[in-house]
Amino acid sequence: MTEPASTPIGFIGLGIMGGPMAANLLKAGYPVVGYDVVPAALEKFTAAGGKAADSVAAVAAESDVVITMLPDSPFVEEVVLGSGGVLEHAKPGLLLIDMSTIRPDTSVAVGTEAASRGVRALDAPVSGGEKGAIDGVLSIMVGGEEEVFAAALPVLEVLGKTIVHVGPAGAGQTVKAANQLVVGGTYALVAEAIVLLEASGVDAGRGLDVLAGGLAGSRILELKRESMVARQFAPGFRIDLHHKDMGIAIAAAREAGVALPMTGLVAQLIASARAQGYGSLDHSVLLKVLENLSGRASTA
Ligand code: NAD
Repeated sequence: MTEPASTPIGFIGLGIMGGPMAANLLKAGYPVVGYDVVPAALEKFTAAGGKAADSVAAVAAESDVVITMLPDSPFVEEVVLGSGGVLEHAKPGLLLIDMSTIRPDTSVAVGTEAASRGVRALDAPVSGGEKGAIDGVLSIMVGGEEEVFAAALPVLEVLGKTIVHVGPAGAGQTVKAANQLVVGGTYALVAEAIVLLEASGVDAGRGLDVLAGGLAGSRILELKRESMVARQFAPGFRIDLHHKDMGIAIAAAREAGVALPMTGLVAQLIASARAQGYGSLDHSVLLKVLENLSGRASTA
């Protein structure tokens, strides 16, 4: 890859994650052309110095690298494989980095179709949340060919801190599925800890301060304990998206022929959060699901 200033990057999907990621590429000196179906997302992007495009096709036609950061598999299929999509309008040798969290088998299909059109593709989902995206310190798990990974590394290094090539096409998504089951399970247990502490008359904030410094410590306790105790559930990462991710994890387990009972339980708690109308709230809202199970509607 040559210098940032001479490497035009296309960015499709400028939401909670894509918006700050595109802003970081602009700060690093890359010319970035972006597209999102939501006008407000595009306006934020142009305010950060990006050039707005009016279609996926326009982004693809003028980029050496295209990054997609979309909600789910059908969106990636439409934007990348669909008519008017990235592959149809790609320059020869385009580097396509899909950073959305989607099904591993969709990433494999995208990789195969891309290769047949002379496009080099990677699946590169991320972990680290909105804050990680803003700070440019995401963990990035990358599936695809080694030399394509090497070509993408300078761009990925702008977005993340821990960047690992984990295997062939689809492997990045499998690692992300493993990540999501650990994150979901951790939230559920932190929520249970809060329910227990409060029901026992112990100050949950102080209790979690101790947990955060010991073996139970985690990034989730570090970043989210205060907002959970204060019942602030603005996303962040929406329950709807985590529900999607638990479906991916369960499908991957079935495909691999393994039983993941904890994952199944966490998936049901997240499904309950959604059924109770919390789909657009942060996944830390699992606290309300656990409270409701104990008949303890929160007052905060
Ligand atoms: P989001 O809903 O905020 O952003 C997705 C964006 O894609 C939206 O702005 C939407 O308008 C846009 N979009 C949808 N269809 C489009 C199309 N056809 N063309 C152009 N733009 C389109 O979601 P997000 O939280 O940014 O998550 C994006 C992906 O990253 C998801 O796969 C999610 O699972 C994953 N992820 C999110 C987080 C997080 O903390 N939010 C963390 C890690 C991974």
